[in-house]
Amino acid sequence: MVDSTKIDGATGNRRDMRKAYIRTFGCQMNVYDSDGLAARLASAGWEMTSDPREAELWIVNSCSVRAKSEHKAISELGRLASIKARKGKGVLALVGCVAQQHADAILERQPACDLVVGTRAYGRFLELVERAMAGERIADVGDEGEGGIESLHPKSNICPNGVVAFVPVMRGCNNFCSYCIVPYVRGPEVSRAPADVIREVEALVARGVREVTLLGQNVNSYGRGTDYGDFADLLQRVSEVDGLVRIRFTTSHPKDFTDRLCEVMAENPKVCKHLHLPFQSGSNRILELMNRGYTREEYIEKVARARERIGELAVSADVMVGFCTETEDDFIQTLDLIETVGFDGLFTFRYTPRPFSKAYNWADGLPYREKIRRLQAVQDLQNRIQLERNRELVGKEVRVLVERRDKKRANWMTGRTEQNRVVHFYSAGADAGNVVRVKIERAFTHHLEGVEAHEGERKEEVVSSNVQG
Ligand code: SF4
Repeated sequence: MVDSTKIDGATGNRRDMRKAYIRTFGCQMNVYDSDGLAARLASAGWEMTSDPREAELWIVNSCSVRAKSEHKAISELGRLASIKARKGKGVLALVGCVAQQHADAILERQPACDLVVGTRAYGRFLELVERAMAGERIADVGDEGEGGIESLHPKSNICPNGVVAFVPVMRGCNNFCSYCIVPYVRGPEVSRAPADVIREVEALVARGVREVTLLGQNVNSYGRGTDYGDFADLLQRVSEVDGLVRIRFTTSHPKDFTDRLCEVMAENPKVCKHLHLPFQSGSNRILELMNRGYTREEYIEKVARARERIGELAVSADVMVGFCTETEDDFIQTLDLIETVGFDGLFTFRYTPRPFSKAYNWADGLPYREKIRRLQAVQDLQNRIQLERNRELVGKEVRVLVERRDKKRANWMTGRTEQNRVVHFYSAGADAGNVVRVKIERAFTHHLEGVEAHEGERKEEVVSSNVQG
């Protein structure tokens, strides 16, 4: 049982620790922010709980990139409001992008919500919580230019498996794609100083982390307007951290993906051979309406060049169907691009208008059912391609960083390849954090299955992976 008391430094008395519950929606950046808020709360004597009934501070970290995620956050707020009502005390807080966007309206429409904190005001989070605990109702979204990437100073952003961690290297976006709300809620691009990133990665590795994912809305523009160097420089520097085995990064913007970055991916053994490069649409007319800054031909050519230069490169992407005025012909071009590139993974989305974005007031002509039909067609096509690509690996050996033990099957482990393929495999003795070779025996759409090969050599493999990645 968890001991929820601690000794008060001033009085020597044992006292109950206050408990906080956080529910996070949206991207890895939000997960990272939640970890940062939790670390701040812990430094002020709060204990985190996974049971909202135990808490007296409930935090919903919201995402507004899509209407669906926004609705989920608001309905979670409602669920937690009823827990708060049953307890008769406590503070219910909304943070994240929805908070940044609708702060005053939330306080007005959600009487049970006591505190609304936008992404730019996280630096004052503890102070705001204490004021809310004292009975104030507050909305704080910070000011323009506030809330730089240093404002959280998180102490932990490690996944529960202890092997993989996420490290933001920049925040915000200057691209203003016409459908996107991010530049309005996350503000302009702010890069984090390389020394600060390295310090954090070193600390994570000292705690057992073997793989980091460098995060940003558009990592390819890292360092712009500073003397930090570019993203390729940062990757090189992070790769010099001893004990780190793998580096991933996301998200890249096709217009900013440079030959130099491609070169680092090809040459540096610690940088995973996986590129996530959202294309959004295969139609040049739609790409222009989206303000994406590249054509389908340029996209296809960039991927082909990267595949040629980087051996065994896996490419994944985001695609959106049903954007304003998308015709059947535009949509067929999207299907054609998917077929031409042959993605290893694809995140598929249906367009929904987002407030503040340029396209918000444009006619969103396509009926819901047609958008769903297109979404399904994209998913069916991708599932077929993905299964074919995975089947090509049957009988081959892949290198897997082990992340966790399978909860249901004895001696089964789960990990990922450099190409970000999930592998479930049988092994008598592998453990989380090991790098092992797995012989693939079966392929499925979203994962592979196999058995550890060369088990006796595993120790050497782990040692060498420290050096080479
Ligand atoms: S690159 Fe475009 S889609 Fe991505 S965060 Fe920036 S504006 Fe949004």
